[in-house]
Amino acid sequence: MQNENSIVVVTGAGSGIGRASCIKLAQNGAKVVAVDFNQTTGEETLSLIQEHGGEGIFVQADVSKNEDVERYVQIAVETYGRIDAFVNNAGVLQTFSMLTDISEAEYDRIMNVNVKGVFLGLKHVLKVMEKQGHGSIINTASTSGIRAEHSLAAYSASKHAVIGLTKGAALEYVKKGIRVNAICPGGVDTTLTQSVPLMIQKTGYVPEEIPNMRMGRYSDPSEIAEMVVFLASNKSSYMTGSIVVVDGGLTL
Ligand code: ADP
Repeated sequence: MQNENSIVVVTGAGSGIGRASCIKLAQNGAKVVAVDFNQTTGEETLSLIQEHGGEGIFVQADVSKNEDVERYVQIAVETYGRIDAFVNNAGVLQTFSMLTDISEAEYDRIMNVNVKGVFLGLKHVLKVMEKQGHGSIINTASTSGIRAEHSLAAYSASKHAVIGLTKGAALEYVKKGIRVNAICPGGVDTTLTQSVPLMIQKTGYVPEEIPNMRMGRYSDPSEIAEMVVFLASNKSSYMTGSIVVVDGGLTL
């Protein structure tokens, strides 16, 4: 078991990559603090953790609010005494549109969750990990964080920022025993990607280019969770500041 007795906090735990990571971490022996904005789906994830023989708690929180982030970090430490790994994963997808059609409100929504949420998580968890003298942080970026994807300029900017935060934190905390890495999934079968056809239907806007699924399929979130488990464990002990692409060849 790769994560035996680890205490791991996972945000965006109610769905997709977050939920799959919670389950796989629990199967690998971790105790999981599952965080999500959505109470119902978050509690479902906790039940799934328990069904798979794991242990954990659920905390309802908005990752873009400082007081919520302070609260989930505090609850994790009060419950389990430490945080060995942190999966900084909650995110939202932009409504497809050309850059000139992105509203200020939409831009702010994307940046608030995808960038500020990741920043606040880093800020508060790093303080805990610095005191402990160890920790592994995994930020969920995207293939949109290493190149442009059509009709997603704000989302792409937000994910490039996640990579910037990952590298900055990795550099500053490398001497303190803390590793910070990012995963760039491409084309995961989650509510995020499932929302694409719905979004096209609702807005009538069809992106000029839809990325190729080179393997002829989306990835299952559990295929991303395998990398989360690895990066959270000591098996990745020499990795920090790495931007790990798990995209089935999408960016080839
Ligand atoms: P992914 O492909 O990243 O797994 P999903 O849409 O399936 O995408 O999952 C994203 C998760 O993040 C959802 O469970 C959603 O409720 C959660 N989430 C979105 N915004 C916030 C937020 N501000 N605070 C906490 N959780 C959030």
